[in-house]
Amino acid sequence: MSEYTTYLAKLGELTLKGSNLKEFEKRLVENARLYLETVRATVRLCAGRLYIEGPEESCPAIEFTLKHLIGITGWAKTTVCEKNIEAIKKAAYAEALAAKAEGAKTFKIETRRAEKSFPLNSYEISCEAAADVFDAGILDVDVHRPDVVIRIEIRDRCFVYCDRNKACRGLPVGTGGKGLLLLSGGLDSPVAGYRMMRRGMKVDCVYFHAYPYTSAEAQQKVEDLARIIAQYGVDTHINIIPFTDVQMRIKERAPEAFSTLLLRMCMMSAANLLADRIRADCLISGESLGQVASQTIQNMTVTESACAYPLLRPLVGLDKEEIIATAKYIGTYETSILPYEDCCVLFSPKHPVLRANRAEAQQLYARLEIDELVRLAYENREIKRFAARDYVAQTFAG
Ligand code: ATP
Ligand code: MG
Repeated sequence: MSEYTTYLAKLGELTLKGSNLKEFEKRLVENARLYLETVRATVRLCAGRLYIEGPEESCPAIEFTLKHLIGITGWAKTTVCEKNIEAIKKAAYAEALAAKAEGAKTFKIETRRAEKSFPLNSYEISCEAAADVFDAGILDVDVHRPDVVIRIEIRDRCFVYCDRNKACRGLPVGTGGKGLLLLSGGLDSPVAGYRMMRRGMKVDCVYFHAYPYTSAEAQQKVEDLARIIAQYGVDTHINIIPFTDVQMRIKERAPEAFSTLLLRMCMMSAANLLADRIRADCLISGESLGQVASQTIQNMTVTESACAYPLLRPLVGLDKEEIIATAKYIGTYETSILPYEDCCVLFSPKHPVLRANRAEAQQLYARLEIDELVRLAYENREIKRFAARDYVAQTFAG
């Protein structure tokens, strides 16, 4: 056992599920196994804890998984020891030394005794283990606001750990239906996708480009963003739809002020076709109320009128700072702020309509006679797949 490292993760919200708890747990375990498919590691779930075990060389891949896996609230590297008080005291002592080295001054010990046959009760175990640490002057006891909590769990085996690492929380990806994310190169849409993944949604992406009016770099940037959010979403497909002809048609036939809005409607039409095809339950966009002209409530209503599916906007009530904080947390920020423009910016009007009338917009849309062009664009899509497990295989191989 000793040459293996054991990690323990705690399940959060998931534990509130009643009758379908088993389904949620099963999905969580399957997802963790997918991340680690190319790595020597075992994943199991026991009494509401997820355990991942592997040899030393697997640790970086396991830690990557625990940092990205949605559905757990926290995780720790844990010492697995014999179920006797001497072994437990030794392990707690080692945890205290490690915590001191990281700057902790105070501690407390919390014990859970799931295995009731153990001769001491939880309180006695905590006291015994704490005494050695305290007597040796390593850390002071503070039961109210300790710098570190050393946890002892007596189960089929005995686990001793400090839980310092926060995780993504949320519900396991794959338990909340499937969404099609309209992914552009900006800050918002990758965050919107991540937010829905956190609610258990499986997310695929669609990106509309207008080559050569938008650059190959702009497309590369969006693919990079898809690769990053796939690290949380287990995997994702990105559908790249060539929209140049659609954009040109709008430019020819529509009043300039309406061009962005009409383009959004065309994007929704194409997204409807794709959602049918991939059996998505909804569309997802990165819109946030009032952020730009196309995101007034009136214009959002017009955009939505072209959707055959529910349109989810997880960022609708967030401000830019809140969105940026999440973008930094998930690692999309640096890519999103690269300068390459996506198609909407180049064709954007100087004075866009701010409060479009729905009937007027729909009339202008009909005048475009654009459904065939949209369908052609959809049929000419290119599909790429990004998976967390490929990232793990490439990054942590050998
Ligand atoms: P983002 O930061 O996501 O680019 P934004 O603030 O730039 O959003 P808009 O350009 O108005 O806002 O786009 C609103 C939403 O429409 C985006 O969040 C995205 O979901 C979708 N969208 C815009 N352009 C594209 C595109 N080229 N391909 C796919 N989806 C797009
Ligand atoms: Mg944008």
